[in-house]
Amino acid sequence: MTLKQKKLDSFKADLLARREQITTDLHHTTVELLDDDTGYSDSIDLASAETTRNLTLKIKNKERDDLWHIQDALRRIEEGSFGDCERCGDEISEARMRARPSAILCISCQSEVEIEEGRHHSHRL
Ligand SMILES: [Zn+2]
Repeated sequence: MTLKQKKLDSFKADLLARREQITTDLHHTTVELLDDDTGYSDSIDLASAETTRNLTLKIKNKERDDLWHIQDALRRIEEGSFGDCERCGDEISEARMRARPSAILCISCQSEVEIEEGRHHSHRL
């Protein structure tokens, strides 16, 4: 374990708070979606309703994605691999982990991977 337990605890608390926030947001979005469905009528512009719906689903997917990353980061905290680069094994800087708790690569490995993957690289940094 490269990060001090105290720091890990603070990361964990932060991640749990984020997870709760996203879960709440997802719940709200679902409720809004259901409202949309019941709101359909002749007077409603179906095209724009559909756009709103797609947008909402997109946001939902993003949140689900975030949720997955948070779960993964929490799992790595439990395993003790949180903050370690999966590629070179070096410690990932705390600043980077703060900005992106789901990071599994240090900055230099991340850039190398992106160069290697070229246009296939993930746009989610
Ligand atoms: Zn690395």
